[in-house]
Amino acid sequence: MKDIKRLKIIIKGAVQGVGFRPFIYRLATELNLKGWVNNSASGVFIEVEATRTILEQFLSRIPQEKPPISQINTIETSWLNPVNYTNFEIRHSSSGDKTAIILPDLATCYDCLQEIFDPNNRRYLYPFTNCTNCGPRYTIIEELPYDRPKTSMKEFTMCKECQEEYENPLNRRFHAQPNACPKCGPKLQLWNPKGEVLATENNALEESITALKAGNILAVKGLGGFQLIVDARNNQAVKQLRQRKHRPDKPFALMYASLDDIKVDCKVSDLEQQLLTSPQAPIVLIKRNKNSDHLSPNIAPNNPYLGVMLPSTPLHHLLLHKIDFPIVATSGNIASEPICIDNEEALQRLGNIADLFLVHNRSIIRPVDDSVVRVMGGREMIIRRARGYAPFPIQIDEQLLSKYKQNSQSIPNILAVGGHLKNTVAILKNNQVFISQHIGDLSTVEALKSFNQVMDSLKQLYEFEPDIIVCDKHPDYVSSQYAKAQNLPLFTVQHHYAHTLSCMANNNLKPPVLGVAWDGTGYGDNNTIWGGEFILIADNNYQRIAHFKPFKLPGGEQAVKDPRRIALSLLYAVFEDYNSLKLPFLETISSKELNLVKQMLSRNLNTPLTSSVGRFFDGVAAMIGICEKISFEGQGAINLEYAINDVNIQANYPYEIIELDYPLVIDWELIIKGIIEDILQNLSHQEIATKFHNTLVEIIIDVAQKTKENNILLTGGCFQNKYLTERTILRLKQEKLHPFWHKNVPPNDGGIALGQIIASIIEK
Ligand code: ZN
Ligand code: ZN
Ligand code: FE
Repeated sequence: MKDIKRLKIIIKGAVQGVGFRPFIYRLATELNLKGWVNNSASGVFIEVEATRTILEQFLSRIPQEKPPISQINTIETSWLNPVNYTNFEIRHSSSGDKTAIILPDLATCYDCLQEIFDPNNRRYLYPFTNCTNCGPRYTIIEELPYDRPKTSMKEFTMCKECQEEYENPLNRRFHAQPNACPKCGPKLQLWNPKGEVLATENNALEESITALKAGNILAVKGLGGFQLIVDARNNQAVKQLRQRKHRPDKPFALMYASLDDIKVDCKVSDLEQQLLTSPQAPIVLIKRNKNSDHLSPNIAPNNPYLGVMLPSTPLHHLLLHKIDFPIVATSGNIASEPICIDNEEALQRLGNIADLFLVHNRSIIRPVDDSVVRVMGGREMIIRRARGYAPFPIQIDEQLLSKYKQNSQSIPNILAVGGHLKNTVAILKNNQVFISQHIGDLSTVEALKSFNQVMDSLKQLYEFEPDIIVCDKHPDYVSSQYAKAQNLPLFTVQHHYAHTLSCMANNNLKPPVLGVAWDGTGYGDNNTIWGGEFILIADNNYQRIAHFKPFKLPGGEQAVKDPRRIALSLLYAVFEDYNSLKLPFLETISSKELNLVKQMLSRNLNTPLTSSVGRFFDGVAAMIGICEKISFEGQGAINLEYAINDVNIQANYPYEIIELDYPLVIDWELIIKGIIEDILQNLSHQEIATKFHNTLVEIIIDVAQKTKENNILLTGGCFQNKYLTERTILRLKQEKLHPFWHKNVPPNDGGIALGQIIASIIEK
């Protein structure tokens, strides 16, 4: 037939390891097309022959009927002369440019779950069951293209049945790289802290469950690393876990067997339900119910929210289905160190924490923690971006990149090393930014090791060699020092400018924008610590248009850990003689220390200045007596937010904006005076906390109006605060301004690397 045409199609996006080729195979066979499909590192390639009408039908059905977890970014087509293919086949993977998207790890799908609990299925109770719709990806892949010999599944040779599934294009496990069964796949073992094997396979599972019921702490090798788990109702066990993990206060996440079980303890909204049951299966911060008091009070002390999640792997499903209580499931680490991924390393690092180790022999290639999300302003906001989300790329607006085209330059490879706390790193390759999973605080040797490993693996995975390296302006950050040591063109970016750009990119906006960048700490252009900033971005430059009036941190880091010192500093600035104020929190401080701090303040001894709103939150929390010592970043602010507890108070404290010159200065003296008055009048914490938050919101409105900028970006760690963020959104809308907040890139320092990349793009 002479009207036969050949159509060549290249599909790019998240199309590997999601059942895309079998989908194409089925569609092509259905339409009786001849030709082939294959997978390369840069996407899916297809050649098909038929009449033009049928080929056009084929083409239009691809995006309509594609596998649910795939994502198509581009489809390129070209029409060619036929070469008379005689059948349709799936060809072997070929290599090529490494730009294909690696999928994140996905929670166990419905079909696999049915099999695990079906006594007649050959995968009955098998903890490593998966298919093309679910299972590990990012945590097992060594290099592209995504093929079994390039994953940690290469150690396992498929049995005959598994191989047949793997080769059958009509099977759900066609080319499911981690495909396995009890006969041929990874196996469980239960170890004691010396690494001696106590039980294997199903017995290991059974004995783990018995140990959990008895109140033991179990280290479990999960998908992206070890988790520490314990009976969430057992107060003694939870307390012990806190002690051993050196984590006195920070809330623990919980894992429940089912959504119904979560609903016993939490008020789950529709959106929260969607998030919990999504393939990402993150930890979701949800309001707890009054009747959740069967849980240990040590899970999340004084916290109206719980971080809850559903099982995301068959192993977790199997552990939970035989127990009738939720478990604490927290990262396998000490304090804020990175999560542990290796069996032997787990014995060393977690040997003093866990009573037993439930391990297996499938290696984890890179650490990936559980992700944390919170519903914010009616949609999800990612607070910790890891399992289920990383390394899904962020697309960069073509217009931002257009200058390279105009100058007929190719887009450079940019590596951004992020900040210091909640570190992530990112790379720009073509028009996409790949942000690493959450690495953590870079304050320990372990963390630094992990930082280097994540960086190396990102480079290796995408065959990426940076042309330019970007880091924070802070000279002491280890990430900045790493960047400087690389011998590459170096570009430094101010912290709050990076926050603002991160929020801008996350909302696909272009300058001009006004960023409200409020956080705990960031190195300022004037070498002081910033954190209460209004950043105006126009074209390729930024201006610090307004900021909080700086205050002193008596003893620097000591004030950060003991926010009562910040409270004293704020009081001193307003009243000088704070000893005579009859404030309850003063009674918790010795007169010796009161005098010492006063001397420091009066003589400016070791009292670095900061404009940080995060620290201001801490100071106010200490002043009203709801935060004495800080054991994790943001604790004071969190206590203050939670003190609000659903109240309808519209009042706020007075404040002043000093408008002599730019930057405008937000003077908080009247706020402190107002708070003191309220404390002395015995107003509740709830009322004071609410009025304080309302005040901050009015300050934002005020500055936004003075700046005459319409697009207002809420960024920085302070905007993880739901009351603050949602009230600001509401008030900005009332004033006909356009609020923007973070979505799938965190507002905290986990988003800094993205901002750094944008800064270096728009610089020139
Ligand atoms: Zn599945
Ligand atoms: Zn098998
Ligand atoms: Fe920050």
